[in-house]
Amino acid sequence: MIIDSHQHFVRLAKHPEVEGFRTAQLAGKNLDLPKISDADVTKSLEQVVSLMDSRKIEVAFASPRAKAMATHEGTPEQNAIWADLNNSLIIRACKLTPGRFAPVGMLGQHPTCPSEQVAKQIERWTKEGFIAFNFDPDGTGGRWQNQPFTGKHNYPVFEAAQALDVPLVLHGSESINKNFPHTAVQYLVADITGFVQLMMGKDLFRDFPRLRFLIPHGGGALPCQIGRWRAIAKYNSWASPDEILGNGNVFVDTCVYNDLNMQMLFDAVPLDNILFGSECDGAFPGVINDETHDHYDNTRRYVDDSKLNAADKARIFVANARRVYPRASRWIQA
Ligand SMILES: [Zn+2]
Repeated sequence: MIIDSHQHFVRLAKHPEVEGFRTAQLAGKNLDLPKISDADVTKSLEQVVSLMDSRKIEVAFASPRAKAMATHEGTPEQNAIWADLNNSLIIRACKLTPGRFAPVGMLGQHPTCPSEQVAKQIERWTKEGFIAFNFDPDGTGGRWQNQPFTGKHNYPVFEAAQALDVPLVLHGSESINKNFPHTAVQYLVADITGFVQLMMGKDLFRDFPRLRFLIPHGGGALPCQIGRWRAIAKYNSWASPDEILGNGNVFVDTCVYNDLNMQMLFDAVPLDNILFGSECDGAFPGVINDETHDHYDNTRRYVDDSKLNAADKARIFVANARRVYPRASRWIQA
């Protein structure tokens, strides 16, 4: 079995009724929630299911489109409705395709939203079956105006996540700054910032020893810059990268898109901390890698082609995902 721990239902999020609802909502219009038919939900998944079948990927952990979370826009009330709409679509999509997907939610974060409300959303949607939640370490659309996310202002969120045993995926969203395109820069800035803040936030894992974070996209700059961060951690008396990885608080995925960087990831990060992920059909659908003559986002092939032995590959393809996302079991049939 292979589990893809990082997908987004981008095509579902691009349904005109869904996009139209958010546009109208942000314009201050009070619309009824869009009614998307089961047929439309299923149709939006056809392409990704077909790619999963061709790559022999049985199950994917899927969340709303990251760019469209955009919780810096709107009010806390609007964002709560927007998050609930997206989560309800995600869970419907998972139920309509049994055994293929497990739901990862979004949260109605907003710079002025009390984190108690965000925590309540985690509780509500975990009861419905969600296995993890995207948590934007910025939440201000690329302005980075908030205090570091590891502060006490977010403790209600961390308490809920630890108590319910759901990991938080530190995933960036829309950027208002044209210098920082969301998929090319803002997401990676969120990865880097998230990881470094976890090194800086020394109290966090003392207060929440079982809290788990997933840093997507290969941990941002981790494969290249782990040495730099080891040095800075020593210099500033922060937690070292090895400490937060080794204590089982921080994990990364394989969303890197060539053989060289995949191997660097395997060399830099303990294999127990790496989960297979592809962002298949999301970030750059159908774009061909000239080295492999295959889609860039067929990350399975970079793992397959690596020097890892079969047991290590199995850890990355399935065992680590099941351990880090224990609530996924109810969605996995095999
Ligand atoms: Zn993503």
